Amino acid sequence: MKTLKLRIKDKHCKVLDQLASEVNFVWNYVNDLCFKHLQRKGQFFSAYDVAKYTKGTSKECNLHSQTIQAVTEELVIRRKQFKKAKLKWRVSNKKSARCSLGWIPFKKVAVKYANGYIQYGKHQFKLWDSYGLSKYTVKTGSFVEDSRGRWYVCLVVDSPKQEKPTETKAIGIDLGLKDIAACSDGTVIFNPKFYRQYEQKLGIAQRAKNKKRVRALHAKIKNCRKDHLHKASSMLVKNNALIVIGDLSAQKLVKTKMAKSVLDTGFSALKTMLTYKCENAGVLFEEVSENFTTQVCSSCGEITASSPKGRADLRIREWRCCNEKCLSLNDRDINAALNILALGHKRLAVGISLF
Ligand SMILES: [Zn+2]
Repeated sequence: MKTLKLRIKDKHCKVLDQLASEVNFVWNYVNDLCFKHLQRKGQFFSAYDVAKYTKGTSKECNLHSQTIQAVTEELVIRRKQFKKAKLKWRVSNKKSARCSLGWIPFKKVAVKYANGYIQYGKHQFKLWDSYGLSKYTVKTGSFVEDSRGRWYVCLVVDSPKQEKPTETKAIGIDLGLKDIAACSDGTVIFNPKFYRQYEQKLGIAQRAKNKKRVRALHAKIKNCRKDHLHKASSMLVKNNALIVIGDLSAQKLVKTKMAKSVLDTGFSALKTMLTYKCENAGVLFEEVSENFTTQVCSSCGEITASSPKGRADLRIREWRCCNEKCLSLNDRDINAALNILALGHKRLAVGISLF
């Protein structure tokens, strides 16, 4: 939880001053009520007791009922804190030397926030939103005046979830043909199934020679793919401080028997996105040669007889290392991603020792 303080535009000062004097009136009334009750019965009123007396007050003034409650609660808390039978009178007269600085507390249901203004009751107050308020959940707050007569709104908020700037995780990514990518932490970025759906429809449209439909479907597939890759790359950049990726490229694959269009699951686009997103976010990005990353066992670092033999052995998804001291069971893609990550760490270590 933290408190945000935002300046309210000066044109609203008059209304806020008026509301503040109503708050003062409520404060003084409750303060007096509690004091009289104490004199008569020798007992302190609780905020709950007072509520019976202030019920309906909000209909006769411009204050929200949640403000009246908040004023009462504050008064009871302060009275306990200072161990006093009666608290200081709040003075609204601006000319008085004892004039209180304006204060209008409220609870979260009393305010709504929208595009550059805060709504309180029927009033809308424009403000300078320097924090991006829509990101936060308001718990409680108050309007306050400073000694120069400027008004602010103070909001107690929950910290937004995405605020995690100190990620320390590192990840290796094995770009793939079956799935777009497999990560060393076990995350897999799938090639989503919805392409299939569209591809079938595309086939129908093509056979019917419906050019307009074909264009529309192509655009749709492209957008879905892009959206999927954007989400995946943003997630990777947000959660990691170092991203290491294999140097698999579509151009290299063209040299093999299979055509690029069949093979490119979108990993080239993912790579491009990761490159610029990492730079923007200050995340380290390394590209390493992926030679042997599929064959080497990531636990013991050896290539054994059971290792899959490069891209040709695509059928093998899982294999057990033959090294008698190791015998670990490796998922083909995650094992490769772990090796890629290790290569990235090695390269970074070398890079540092050069200085
Ligand atoms: Zn091993």
